[in-house]
Amino acid sequence: MPELPEVETVRRSLQPIVGRRIEAVEVFDGRLRRPLAADFASRLAGRCITAIDRRAKYLLVRLSGGDTLLAHLGMSGALLLQPAGTARVEHDHVRLQLSGRVQLAFNDPRRFGLLRVGRGDRFTELDHIGLDPLDDTFSLGNLVTLARGRKKPVKNLLMDQRALGGIGNIYANEILFRARIRPGRQARRLTRAELARLFDATRAVLAHAIELGGSSISDYRDASGRPGYFHLRLSVYDRAGAPCPRCRTAVRRAVHAGRSSFYCPTCQK
Ligand SMILES: [Zn+2]
Repeated sequence: MPELPEVETVRRSLQPIVGRRIEAVEVFDGRLRRPLAADFASRLAGRCITAIDRRAKYLLVRLSGGDTLLAHLGMSGALLLQPAGTARVEHDHVRLQLSGRVQLAFNDPRRFGLLRVGRGDRFTELDHIGLDPLDDTFSLGNLVTLARGRKKPVKNLLMDQRALGGIGNIYANEILFRARIRPGRQARRLTRAELARLFDATRAVLAHAIELGGSSISDYRDASGRPGYFHLRLSVYDRAGAPCPRCRTAVRRAVHAGRSSFYCPTCQK
């Protein structure tokens, strides 16, 4: 499932559509996570794309006139920028024909993705999203506040979309490895020094992943939404039994809130 760095990589890869006009909207199959609204195509046609923003794992394609196209990639969605006339392939559910002879295809085999048009930022989907860990306003003080009083494992805090938006299981494990904190530790028991390491690790792991994803943007367009992860050298995620890259101790697996956690029992305390 795409996490914040993959979505940010997509956002950057889509910059060439800013300034283009939506000339036609093709809906082949509107049965996504929520069915496409009846006025989906009519609200997009004729609009110009003025900017693309991101909040957590949501993309906000800003349109002339004040509307926004909200997009979420779900489990398997991809937004593919193609030359006009590129043949439709299986699972291309929606296509926007843009000025300058390019088209934007939304391809999603599992259909958990979302496309909605609304005004500005007024989407119920965005109402309960927590802080964006890469936003300039996100601070160590925010993280200290979030951890206060939380008995749940710190990994759950990282993945709680109402607290922090955009971190999933892969990056939560990698962040905790970098911060040298075990995933099952109670968030409220972390020391100020540990929270400072966690804050730094969160920013560093996400920023590094975006850097690697950014270098693979051209691959991303050809492929179907996964390569971002292939470029990331994972330290612990899905590596149970393999040597820790820092100390060679075998990586362990545990389960927290039904999700696999991976950690080094020597480096992570
Ligand atoms: Zn280790």
